[in-house]
Amino acid sequence: MMNPDSPEILMAQPRGFCAGVDRAINIVNEALTRFGAPIYVRHEIVHNAYVVNELREKGAVFVDELHEVPKGGIVVFSAHGVSQEVRRDAQSRGLQVYDATCPLVTKVHLEVVKMSKDGFTILMIGHAGHPEVEGTMGQVEAGLHLIEKVSDVEKLPFTQSEKMAFVTQTTLSVDETKEIIEALTIKFPSIVQPRKQDICYATQNRQDAVKFMAPQVEVVIVVGSQASSNSNRLRELAEKLGVSAYMVDAPEQLQAEWFAGKKRVGLTAGASAPESLAQSIVAKIQSFGPRSIRNLEGVVEDVTFSLPKNLAD
Ligand code: SF4
Repeated sequence: MMNPDSPEILMAQPRGFCAGVDRAINIVNEALTRFGAPIYVRHEIVHNAYVVNELREKGAVFVDELHEVPKGGIVVFSAHGVSQEVRRDAQSRGLQVYDATCPLVTKVHLEVVKMSKDGFTILMIGHAGHPEVEGTMGQVEAGLHLIEKVSDVEKLPFTQSEKMAFVTQTTLSVDETKEIIEALTIKFPSIVQPRKQDICYATQNRQDAVKFMAPQVEVVIVVGSQASSNSNRLRELAEKLGVSAYMVDAPEQLQAEWFAGKKRVGLTAGASAPESLAQSIVAKIQSFGPRSIRNLEGVVEDVTFSLPKNLAD
């Protein structure tokens, strides 16, 4: 029988790939299979260094801007989505586009367009400089006003008579966003909210899983790359719950002293981190000293998204 005091790694459920990331990677792979290399990808297809390097080895070429793609080239837009200006630019350059924008990001884009048509001044809750935020804010000519924290709400130069609405980035902290929304509804009691919250199911489920896991462990490892918004939120959440947390995207980044004397280690992975990477990180933790693995209970996701029409045939 297992000794209840023997060291363990508790695995969060769910963790790792979401349906939008899975679809985005499939789109690049499918384009490589059908058309051969090079397939250009605007921005990292998903924010994970391991995934990007694997696709690069197969012939994907990652670019920051479309002028780096030769005329007539094949380009994939990343899961984070793009502005209307980027779409127009691709068209004027004669590029063949395959769009890996997550359908849940597209849902937010459509909300923005509708709110704009209905005459609303639109706020976006999100992080400056994140590609999803740039894409969503670029859906309408008038642009959106960015709110990053509660204190930004006070500074908004609008009165209660203004028709106001808001949308959010899909990968935010559920709790922090709730605080910002509360501040917004106090300042603008008639502000219009999205019909269904914009924070996606995968972000919500991974944060709920960390809330369940954190009280049971002494340290949390988040598998995720620095640029990954949802992975950063998982690390912050574990820290807020009083547990030391580290985010890594390669086994070599782990340090033996993080685990010294710790009976229970929790492991989760952001929505862009593959399970194979999570497993190599588990193996590295076990190399510091024997630990059994326990899979925690949690939501079992069955969401899938189909390929875009121009790749689905
Ligand atoms: S984290 Fe959410 S919004 Fe982002 S790709 Fe995954 S399912 Fe889509």
